[in-house]
Amino acid sequence: MLVTPHSHSPQQQLATSMPTIPARRTTAIITATILGLAAPLSAQSQPQSNDVNGATTAESATPITQIRTLTLPTENKYLETGQNDLFYTYVDRHFEGKSSRPWTGGTYGFVRNPKRTEDGLIYTRFHEGIDINPLQRDNKGEPTDPIKAVADGVVAYTNPKTAHSTYGKYTVLEHSWKSGPIYTLYAHLAETSAPPGEAVTQGQQIGILGHTGVGLDRKRAHLHLELSLLLSTRFQAWYDKHYTSHNYHGNHSGINLAGFDFAAFYLAQKKNPQYTAAEFIQATPVHYKVTTPRKGDLEIASRYPWLIKGDASTPTPSWELSLSSSGLPISIRPSMRATSKVIITYIRPSANHGDHTKNFISGKGNRAQLSKIGKRYIELVTGDF
Ligand SMILES: [Zn+2]
Repeated sequence: MLVTPHSHSPQQQLATSMPTIPARRTTAIITATILGLAAPLSAQSQPQSNDVNGATTAESATPITQIRTLTLPTENKYLETGQNDLFYTYVDRHFEGKSSRPWTGGTYGFVRNPKRTEDGLIYTRFHEGIDINPLQRDNKGEPTDPIKAVADGVVAYTNPKTAHSTYGKYTVLEHSWKSGPIYTLYAHLAETSAPPGEAVTQGQQIGILGHTGVGLDRKRAHLHLELSLLLSTRFQAWYDKHYTSHNYHGNHSGINLAGFDFAAFYLAQKKNPQYTAAEFIQATPVHYKVTTPRKGDLEIASRYPWLIKGDASTPTPSWELSLSSSGLPISIRPSMRATSKVIITYIRPSANHGDHTKNFISGKGNRAQLSKIGKRYIELVTGDF
């Protein structure tokens, strides 16, 4: 996953040719520039800032070449020294008559529920975040680690009621980065302390580590941290179409946040501070592609314009979306294929596609079809519901 970024992506060229601008304006101005709009570049008259967006503290008209990198959300820094068993929280595993507590179950990806298949030993359950061990306990054994924002942002949402989510109490921050609005989600908290709408700075405390939510106890208390794209701003309408239960979380339900690996991105960005979330996601292996009728512009592409590959200015019959095994959108191309419904146009062969795709796809080998939940998911990504 730690891929060296392309040396000169269009985004980097754009960024390095722009004058220094205040951080809060960066995203809007870059977007406007991509769209060819006249953007007011009033940077020289405004205070300089230093932000993960890309602005620097240098003299006026200095190119944006430096970004402030992410920080870890707790004092647990063992990720940096490779002491993964101290950083990640183990899972209790009972497999083929043996019990174990592998820390790998706390990493991001298909890391849980081992299964022997024709493809060998695989893990079929996807973990959308990383689980970080506490370092501090009080005399009752309760964790007390402060949870801190990994970057500047705004509190997009807090869920203060344990019973309302399998995440327990959680907070979502929105970060305005060069790659668009990117979200971090901090789950299983004992307390959330930053109210929605509040601007937070990197390192600011937003809660306390806990063990609220499903599937953990005091002993396995940890921070579940996600780094995500937002799939749809019309999530409630999609939810109402498919579910009868109440959605307490607006657009900030975990279902609507497509996670990528915080730890891998963090480590990669430490090596190259200019590495963007977009570049990281684009380096993710494509597991399958779906082609869907083109009914207009895609909302997700307006939020993340870098998803679009090829010339989308001319109408085509369809869009082809490339997705990771977990369903993370990697890229979207205009396609000349005519189709009246969503179809799978590529999948990496396997003995059972369901095992590798969260059961979004059924079938085996070169035969594959979207399951009911897979169709629903693609609806959410494409906004076609
Ligand atoms: Zn977790």
